Amino acid sequence: MGKKIVIALGGNALGNNLPEQMVAVKTTAKAIVDLVEDGNEVVVVHGNGPQVGVINNAMGEFASEHKEDPTPLSVCVAMSQAYIGYDIQNALREEFLNRGGKVPPVVTVVTQVRVDKDDPAFQNPTKPIGRFMTKEEAESEAQKRGWNIKEDAGRGYRRVVASPKPKEIVELSAIKAMSDAGELVICCGGGGIPVVSEGKHLAGAAAVIDKDFAAALLAESLEADMLIILTAVEKVAIRYGKPDQEWLTDLSVEEAQKYADQGEFAPGSMLPKVQAAIQFASAKKGNEAMITLLEKAREALQGKTGTKITKK
Ligand code: ADP
Ligand code: MG
Repeated sequence: MGKKIVIALGGNALGNNLPEQMVAVKTTAKAIVDLVEDGNEVVVVHGNGPQVGVINNAMGEFASEHKEDPTPLSVCVAMSQAYIGYDIQNALREEFLNRGGKVPPVVTVVTQVRVDKDDPAFQNPTKPIGRFMTKEEAESEAQKRGWNIKEDAGRGYRRVVASPKPKEIVELSAIKAMSDAGELVICCGGGGIPVVSEGKHLAGAAAVIDKDFAAALLAESLEADMLIILTAVEKVAIRYGKPDQEWLTDLSVEEAQKYADQGEFAPGSMLPKVQAAIQFASAKKGNEAMITLLEKAREALQGKTGTKITKK
């Protein structure tokens, strides 16, 4: 019997620039269509790191050339959702046609995700975005625009923004209606457009939501059976990269939490994935979270590979 699955696509699913993305989405489409072909109901979430960086930089250049205010980051995220959705929609259509089947309706939802104004992450911005600047330039921009800036690994100064936790998917009912009707929905791109409630208004926040956390919230909100996080490794490891590294296959939420607490997963890469998996698996008995390689999605679903996290 088919399952309701939310998949989260990582950086390797989209590449680092426009030409790379055109090629990468073909592989990505294969992985998605495999799951649809096996009778599953699939909703797709994707990252947007390099893409939103390019858009942010381009809009920044434009603004400084024309002496205009820079485009808000929330608007850049919206642009990235549309552009990435366009490429995935296109690749999916082609893959369905290649397999000689019917092309199901495929749709991208420009998605707002509400975050908490009081999220402590706003007090501690960690996520570097946009172009590199000299110290002087960075300080002047910080003064002028209220940006937070940080030195980035000896390469210059960059703006840093907060990465708050997603609280609510604003377009959830539209996503649910289309998914329930058998449409293939792409949503919450780049973790969603971060917004905060200001009375009736949803104000765009200068923040970046982690796409793995957004995918976990979406999976929970849609009462999905599975959350599959597709990335650049086939399994999660402990003692990762060390000679005595050990790949993990089947974990309880307690075991996963224990390893996370012991610092086995790198913050900013594997840790948020494991945390997102724990969050979804803990939400309801029977929920399954899986972390695996993009190309192995189908095999992982058949129980042949991947790291599975469940509530035991
Ligand atoms: P994505 O773009 O898919 O979000 P990331 O690069 O952010 O991917 O995170 C996945 C990467 O995390 C893997 O490619 C691997 O290099 C790294 N990683 C860090 N710690 C671990 C671990 N304990 N087990 C497996 N991979 C790990
Ligand atoms: Mg990542």
